[in-house]
Amino acid sequence: TEFVTVSELASMMDVQSTQVISACMSLGIFASINQRLDAETISIVASEFGFEVEFVSAEVQDAIPTVEDKEEDLKDRPPIITVMGHVDHGKTSLLDYIRNATVVDGEAGGITQHIGAYSVTREDGKKLTFLDTPGHEAFTAMRARGAQVTDVAIIIVAADDDVMPQTKEAISHAQAAGVPMVFAINKIDKPGANPDRIREQLSQMNILVEDWGGKYQAQEISAKKGLNIDELLEKVILEADLLELKANPNKNAVGTVVESSLDKGKGYITNMLVEAGTLRIGDVILAGRHSGRVRAMHNEHGKELKEAGPSTPVSILGINGAPSAGDKFHVMDDEREARSIATKREQLYREQGLRTQKHLTLEEIGRRL
Ligand code: GDP
Ligand code: MG
Repeated sequence: TEFVTVSELASMMDVQSTQVISACMSLGIFASINQRLDAETISIVASEFGFEVEFVSAEVQDAIPTVEDKEEDLKDRPPIITVMGHVDHGKTSLLDYIRNATVVDGEAGGITQHIGAYSVTREDGKKLTFLDTPGHEAFTAMRARGAQVTDVAIIIVAADDDVMPQTKEAISHAQAAGVPMVFAINKIDKPGANPDRIREQLSQMNILVEDWGGKYQAQEISAKKGLNIDELLEKVILEADLLELKANPNKNAVGTVVESSLDKGKGYITNMLVEAGTLRIGDVILAGRHSGRVRAMHNEHGKELKEAGPSTPVSILGINGAPSAGDKFHVMDDEREARSIATKREQLYREQGLRTQKHLTLEEIGRRL
């Protein structure tokens, strides 16, 4: 049985792919970045980085039924977008600008709440969903759990600075995950801005932007002044359209936990992204090592929702604990079964916690959702 690729293993451990490649090499295995590794190799390589690996068979792990979607049940869904880049290059400014510039009438009255993701509707009716947890950490935390929710990554680089270590890291994360990138060359309003220097530095990493004859879309912007943001989003949509993103809204919801917290008054608040199916009030949920029933559901404007379809960010009440970012959630028909799986997972987790803190759990490929 084969498990993850070299680059997936690297990003789970938060190390460079080249480090994994050289660890393989020292075992006499000449692996390429996209090569899948067998269990033995993974164990040895991971131990060199201080990780203990546990292999679980997807079948044994849980009995969550996965239903094949019929072609005619698949409907277009909005893309899920992550903004990544070096600190201070403008991630928060860009996300804030997009959120505020596109508030639709009727939603404007609500208090904007941070629920880890938000959804905007463009003039032509197209919807976009943005993850706005601190992009980089969320992405790596989720990747470390094998979760992949991002469809398109915006890599933001300040034009008055350079391509920085975290820029490179963001690029390699996106590449390892096979997520298309659009480059936002930010702060062009600044006197010292030199967008061509950024293009040049990207080209040194083998990333040639479109206006230099390459395949990567790039857009000069000012996140602060709101300059060219529409143009940037057009390019993101172009990239997303190529992916022909679809999901079946007519089934039990599945998705990913974005973040969770404990509120003294309300109990556990779980912010999640519905990826497929439709989530409804009253649904039984299994999320990581926790379970419960959806008692209340809100969007990022504090508006109460009765149901939420694919690519919708929601904040819910009713889960009996705080699942981790990147945990999958599933709506289940049987509350007792959900509770029993959660309990079993909690037991496993406790036992593992006693053994080691650095731990990777790898599921067999092909049974992710
Ligand atoms: P983050 O660390 O990537 O989230 O970066 P922030 O969005 O917090 O921005 C860091 C600083 O750069 C803040 O002081 C912003 O006001 C400023 N900034 C962000 N975008 C622009 C821009 O387009 N032009 C100018 N002049 N300043 C910007
Ligand atoms: Mg920030």
